[in-house]
Amino acid sequence: MNLKEFHKSIKNCTKCVLSESRKQVVPGAGNNKANIMFIGEAPGKKEDEQGIPFVGAAGKFLDEMLKSINLNREDVFIANTVKCRPPKNRDPQDIEIQTCLPYLKKQIAIIKPKVIVTLGRFSLNLFFPEVQISKVHGKILKKDSLCILSLYHPAAALYNGAMRDVHFKDFSVLRQFC
Ligand code: URA
Repeated sequence: MNLKEFHKSIKNCTKCVLSESRKQVVPGAGNNKANIMFIGEAPGKKEDEQGIPFVGAAGKFLDEMLKSINLNREDVFIANTVKCRPPKNRDPQDIEIQTCLPYLKKQIAIIKPKVIVTLGRFSLNLFFPEVQISKVHGKILKKDSLCILSLYHPAAALYNGAMRDVHFKDFSVLRQFC
């Protein structure tokens, strides 16, 4: 099954409660042969309306960071730990993340990225449940056959301008995968 067919197959998913309040599934977007795959937290209001991940303010900052290493969205693939918007943008719950995980695993198996970039603690904890983001951000970690780079969530820079420099520095680690 290719990525397009897979996304079509999950578009009416009702496996968890998020399906009751979402407008649409936000499967992920970008290059199906990307070397770099990003995993954020969860779709927000704009993502739920447009069906595309990271289209709000955090997404604009992500675009800016991509540009800093001469990439754009068409070069990478972007997904989230859960594919449906949690009501009122609450944190995704463990049961929702675990229920959605097989979908993410399938995407990883189809895309076969060289590196997976976790944006924020929810996606980091998918791979390393006990690890604190403050200890590992900007470092390449290995899990089974996967290479994982942990970054702070781009939204962190929206509320704390000083975080911008940390983001850009951590992001530059990706150059080796371009
Ligand atoms: N938009 C997304 O798609 N994911 C996030 O984690 C934040 C904003």
